[in-house]
Amino acid sequence: MKKLVLASGNPDKLRELRHLLEDQPFEVVSVLEILPDWSIEETGITLEENALLKARDVTERTGIASIADDTGLFVDVLGGAPGIYAARFSGSECTYEDNVQKLLRTMLCETNRKASFRTAAAFVSPLGEEMCEMGEVEGTIIEERDGDGGFGYDPVFLPNELDKTFARCSPEEKHRISHRARALKRLIEKLKSLNY
Ligand code: IMP
Repeated sequence: MKKLVLASGNPDKLRELRHLLEDQPFEVVSVLEILPDWSIEETGITLEENALLKARDVTERTGIASIADDTGLFVDVLGGAPGIYAARFSGSECTYEDNVQKLLRTMLCETNRKASFRTAAAFVSPLGEEMCEMGEVEGTIIEERDGDGGFGYDPVFLPNELDKTFARCSPEEKHRISHRARALKRLIEKLKSLNY
């Protein structure tokens, strides 16, 4: 089985990525198992750029093919904010909860609550082969948090395809429709079609 390094230092994303790759013919390891202090500044201005820069860095340091993802939350009425800056919406040292509370405050009197999660999933091989695929899920930002599962903005995101927030979904339910699952599925299909 080919080895793949997951280029993320975020335990919540690592858990989801591992789960999504469970049935695939790859031996998956986290970058933190090889480089325990790995981190990188996300200096790109698009999700694709950030996903690729993470995967390139990990492949360069480990000599092993890697997969990275980068996700943004795009809220219609906020002109697409927080967008690619979703992790730092309420400051550089903020928690998920700080971000959720800031989003709810910012949207207090808004009736248009449409939003979407978008993910770029990138692959970089030691030979310099690169691929990047996108995934998206549309939904609304509800007025109060609901549910304790998932992570990030999950407690306030109600996907159009379900009648409950991502924070009330089992991992399987979230993975059936999520932005990350869709991007990763496309990426894996492409890898398979190229016999990687
Ligand atoms: P990242 O840049 O891909 O690490 O994601 C940016 C931020 O988006 C994270 O810090 C989370 O707050 C949020 N985020 C990413 N993926 C998800 C998700 O699946 N559900 C909810 N929030 C997410």
